Amino acid sequence: MSARYLGGHPSDAGGLVMSVRRAAGAGMRALQIMTAPPTYYNEKVSVKPDKAARFREALAEAGIEPRHVIAHGAYVLNTASPEELKAARAASGLAKELERCTVLGIAGCCFHPGSAGDSDPGEACDRVGDAIVRALQAVPESASGTRVLIENTAGAGRTMGRSAAEVARMLARVPAPLRHRTGYGLDTCHLFASGHDIAGSPEAQRAALDEFERATGERPAFLHLNDSQHPFGSNKDRHAWIGEGSIGVEPFRWLLADPRSEGIPLLLETPNERAETADDDATPDPADVRMMRLLESLLAI
Ligand SMILES: [Zn+2]
Ligand SMILES: [Zn+2]
Repeated sequence: MSARYLGGHPSDAGGLVMSVRRAAGAGMRALQIMTAPPTYYNEKVSVKPDKAARFREALAEAGIEPRHVIAHGAYVLNTASPEELKAARAASGLAKELERCTVLGIAGCCFHPGSAGDSDPGEACDRVGDAIVRALQAVPESASGTRVLIENTAGAGRTMGRSAAEVARMLARVPAPLRHRTGYGLDTCHLFASGHDIAGSPEAQRAALDEFERATGERPAFLHLNDSQHPFGSNKDRHAWIGEGSIGVEPFRWLLADPRSEGIPLLLETPNERAETADDDATPDPADVRMMRLLESLLAI
């Protein structure tokens, strides 16, 4: 089978370079990181060039290309919020996230669009689109082509980004000259939880992906490969080890055979087995190793 770049999001205890080493140890060819603590806006946190250089050296050593690395934005980036101050702070945080990812020279940053609260969902989508535009205007386009990527959500409460139509409306807000610098990615747990039938049959799964491709005019820029602890349509975002949740193993085989999984980061976000990772321990989490072997076995035929 042609290029499938499997990876995950290992612990970054001890720093980003350690997360790269753990990824390499698990045989990962793609990587997800966080560029700053995810529970803060981090609108003033920069990445120093020497830190970026060390990170890129570690990637080269691990044989992971920067174009197969993405950063997950902070969870507090609620760009959909109707509260002006909150939305403005989230937009600044998103712009700074894009800046850090650009300095690191990676493929992009993904983020959850946040909640509409008691506001109109359509207008909430527009606010998310506007925050993306603001980030793209604040950070000049780089040689690495670092992008801002919307992640689909499980759809709990009034959270935005659960459907192809919502993601498409956010992206439609971005003017044509900037549009190539943004896109979206899909999380299997979120798709399943938000009522997209990716586990019923290969045809149903293809139709779900088609819907996003048709609505946005493009393919996903990354996939998050997670099983779901909760049932279909539950709108609950709880990841499970692949094969140990409600999705099961087979749908991941179909997904890895879909041409849309070619050439993009395919990232596990499944639980760690170790309760804690020591800063100086470069060995991969045993669960990551197990998940990588499982996914690789699905590619074999
Ligand atoms: Zn995800
Ligand atoms: Zn999730």
